[in-house]
Amino acid sequence: MAALRAEVTTVADSDTPALGAVVVHTAHQSARVVEGVTATLTHECPDCRAVIGDEHDDGCDVARCMAYGTQRVQCSPGARMVVRGILPNGGVDVDWETDGHDCGRDVWSGRWPGLAECEEFDWWAVFVPYGNPSWRPVAAGTPGAVHDLNRLVVEAKWSPELRRWVR
Ligand SMILES: [Zn+2]
Ligand SMILES: [Zn+2]
Repeated sequence: MAALRAEVTTVADSDTPALGAVVVHTAHQSARVVEGVTATLTHECPDCRAVIGDEHDDGCDVARCMAYGTQRVQCSPGARMVVRGILPNGGVDVDWETDGHDCGRDVWSGRWPGLAECEEFDWWAVFVPYGNPSWRPVAAGTPGAVHDLNRLVVEAKWSPELRRWVR
């Protein structure tokens, strides 16, 4: 299957982030999938300003835990956040597990973590105001569709070896 590439625009965060409670203080991402158009890379991390290929700073909201793929600032030393599911209001139901893991050092790729996987898996969602659930899976190209980052956390598996989500 030919890889779909997306033209990504980052807009000011006035909408509810697609990843609910897992994403805090972040820019909201929206994308229009266009065959043959290369994804636009952002030179600096929107939070810590790391440039492409450089490690995120310690407190960066964008950095992922390289052991579990979740937001790194949500890990405590040696403990990880476990996502149990998505709440009816669109938030993420989480728990904690002490396991002594090392979060590693994520680097800024030029794109928001998980966007490439959503495109590869063709996972999109639209926000439904007062909906239950708030985010509804839709086909690519649906007006208002954004990358379904919630679904990655719930349905995909993080590969520490590949440093990405897999199915
Ligand atoms: Zn960063
Ligand atoms: Zn971690």
